[in-house]
Amino acid sequence: MPGILEGDVVRRITMPTLADYIALDSTARVAHHSPHTLDREHFTLCAPVTPSRNIFCVGRNYLEHIREMGNDERAPPFFFAKHADMIEPDGATIPYPPLTKDLHHEVELIVALKSGGLNIPADKALDHVYGYGVGIDLTRRDLQQAARKKERPWEIGKSFDHSAPCSALQPASKIGHPAKGKIWLSVNGTERQKGDLTELIWSVPEIIWQLSQQVTLGAGDIIMTGTPAGVAALSPGDKIECGIDGIGTLKVSIGKPA
Ligand code: MN
Repeated sequence: MPGILEGDVVRRITMPTLADYIALDSTARVAHHSPHTLDREHFTLCAPVTPSRNIFCVGRNYLEHIREMGNDERAPPFFFAKHADMIEPDGATIPYPPLTKDLHHEVELIVALKSGGLNIPADKALDHVYGYGVGIDLTRRDLQQAARKKERPWEIGKSFDHSAPCSALQPASKIGHPAKGKIWLSVNGTERQKGDLTELIWSVPEIIWQLSQQVTLGAGDIIMTGTPAGVAALSPGDKIECGIDGIGTLKVSIGKPA
């Protein structure tokens, strides 16, 4: 049952999915606020838009990460996708995925859309953003690299069960559109990834503009916007914590092999 967070309580909403709800304008949303609230402590806060529509990911968007992977700094952004049911909520234990011996973490700013279209100009792009969250683009790095060498799609390396953990969303109506803030990830208490949203090569409006040239975007779509440097391997039992200042945090664990 979807709901919205109001301080320490969750207010239920009378719509089947959050995607339906966020597609409404803010005035129309109020009509779907149930009088029933429940204490937050009785809930696991799930990923923001369930079921979400599409998950798009930006291939390369922080200079230091492009350098650590040995790629071309000047290339324009490109996109790949994960499936909507690959989202995992905050607190999830993610089974170590099959076929890989090199599962990597990539902490990313998540953008969730409340509307969309084709060919959205950059100066109108933020009008389509519902809110922001923190996510991890889990990657079977060995399979991704093998696919790259063979000039095959990245799908086997990027798109697998549980590969898109995502925090609860913060609506833009509450936090605005953050263009700066530390983005970080630690494993078992040791910091591994660190960057700042100011280092994004392609900004959120530019990403929406570029992506909307190749596909029609819509409410419920989620965009993972690329990762800063420091990506590294994960093992069963690892505890991951990550966050973006001003947006939130996300904690997940890696479990035994699936
Ligand atoms: Mn990524």
